[in-house]
Amino acid sequence: MARRRNDDERSGLSRRGFLKLGGVGVAAAALGSLPLAARALGRDDVDEWQRETDVLVIGYGGAGATAALAAYEAGADVLVLEKREVGGGTTINSGGFIYAAATSIQEREGIDDTADGMYESWIATGGTMNDADVVRVAADESAESVEWLVGLGGEFPNPPYASGPERKLGREPVGRSHQIRYGDYDQGVAFFRVLADAVEDRGIDVLYGATAERLVIDDDGSVIGVRAQVDGQDEYIRAHRGVVLASGGFSHDEAMLATYTRHGHRSESLTPPGMTGDGQRMAFAIGAAGATMTALSRTPGFRPPEMDRAVAGPMIGIMVNLRGERYVDEYAFYDWRANHLAAQPEARAYAVFDERIREQQAPIAPTLSRSLDEEVEAGLVLRADSLAELAEAMGVPADRLERTVERWNQHAEAEEDPDFERETAFEPIEEGPFYAFEQVVTLYDTAGGARIDPEARVLNVFGEPIGRLYAAGTVAGGAVGELYPGSGAALNVAVTFGRIAGRNAANEEG
Ligand SMILES: Cc1cc2nc3c(=O)[nH]c(=O)nc-3n(C[C@H](O)[C@H](O)[C@H](O)COP(=O)(O)OP(=O)(O)OC[C@H]3O[C@@H](n4cnc5c(N)ncnc54)[C@H](O)[C@@H]3O)c2cc1C
Repeated sequence: MARRRNDDERSGLSRRGFLKLGGVGVAAAALGSLPLAARALGRDDVDEWQRETDVLVIGYGGAGATAALAAYEAGADVLVLEKREVGGGTTINSGGFIYAAATSIQEREGIDDTADGMYESWIATGGTMNDADVVRVAADESAESVEWLVGLGGEFPNPPYASGPERKLGREPVGRSHQIRYGDYDQGVAFFRVLADAVEDRGIDVLYGATAERLVIDDDGSVIGVRAQVDGQDEYIRAHRGVVLASGGFSHDEAMLATYTRHGHRSESLTPPGMTGDGQRMAFAIGAAGATMTALSRTPGFRPPEMDRAVAGPMIGIMVNLRGERYVDEYAFYDWRANHLAAQPEARAYAVFDERIREQQAPIAPTLSRSLDEEVEAGLVLRADSLAELAEAMGVPADRLERTVERWNQHAEAEEDPDFERETAFEPIEEGPFYAFEQVVTLYDTAGGARIDPEARVLNVFGEPIGRLYAAGTVAGGAVGELYPGSGAALNVAVTFGRIAGRNAANEEG
């Protein structure tokens, strides 16, 4: 039966343990070598197994719930461990989009698309970083993943829409981002609920407040179970057929973000707590190779003072860096805008707009007041009667800001942006008061982790599968490279590889 406890402190504990490894240990883990402090546990370390199952799934988000269902459908006894008191992970916070090609939904909407087209588009975003075999599976299996969700009761009532960096890469955008609904639920809640209801209907066991900490391996290096903290006690849990890592990303582990990613540690996170890279670390500790550890999906955003996590957006006015200059197409794909923001001085910039634009877009974000009075009062938004005063408050050279706005106003009038090829919202900035709203890079998730093959088997540093160890979702690397491929790519990877991992783990000999 499910047990519940608050384990946020426990994730802090494991994080402190990780920090103790220091930079050398972290770098060693990146290469897949074995830091001494992360010694793998062998069969001889286990006096007694407190629980047993066929397939053990670590993490109850999108990938974990999918893997559990797939393993159950393949006839296995399944146990899911979830470190938090609730399931859903980042999946439940998401927009509920899945990126897919050649689906029945696209056909219904008259969108002509192929898996090959999606593969080529996805690979083009990777900048040679992503793993062609992993992307091939994500493209080829994506329609089946959508059908699988439909089979569980998910619906896709709206036409899939084009949300990716294609235009910036000289490619034609295609509507591939399918947004799920499930009964009265929408977005990420619908995405997780459709899976969780199926898990509950089948009576699959989910143990909450259970943090997997170490993999236990046999003499031949294959995985036979885990050591987990359950209700403050060490437990050894035997997996007779296989273990599926589905523990998500490391967006809440500053040391990993600082080591692997560009500016990741200086970003605000949009994800819930718990995403501390536990699965990556457990896999690296037994010799797994890493893949695309630098990859992120992110967006410009801000952190309202009263909230514990950041929110995305808004798209408004022009983006001006600390030099007082524009640097990006402000209406481009979010990950494109975030990558450019990360490259600016201090990875900070301001959305600059005027009173007329504010009125037109009010409220400029769902969490903000229409007038912005409260936000100005709280110091979240700057307001000034002239551009020169605004520049002073922003800490940027006034003459630069005035020149930048003047140039933008010329583009707005011509409805053409020769500087950054913006194609929309040609609104001049001319009527005071003027506003500046600081934007920082915020993380949707990390996308680097254990290297997997098309069968979702975790590979060691020599490219060989580690026996009975599978990974799915953002704990596995390979899918995302320099740019995020399009809205829904992460949930594609979660469901597609969750299905494969669960099925293959169940089919191992018990
Ligand atoms: C605001 C927002 C909107 C987004 N919108 C979309 C979208 O529309 N489409 C899309 O594709 N992506 C979207 N993303 C990204 C996407 O939601 C995530 O990348 C994806 O859900 C990751 O799924 P997962 O199953 O791999 O991990 P998660 O859903 O994060 O689940 C991992 C689970 O593992 C648990 N766990 C971690 N460590 C352990 C441990 N040691 N032991 C036991 N349990 C553990 C965690 O608590 C968590 O429940 C969005 C992200 C955010 C923040």
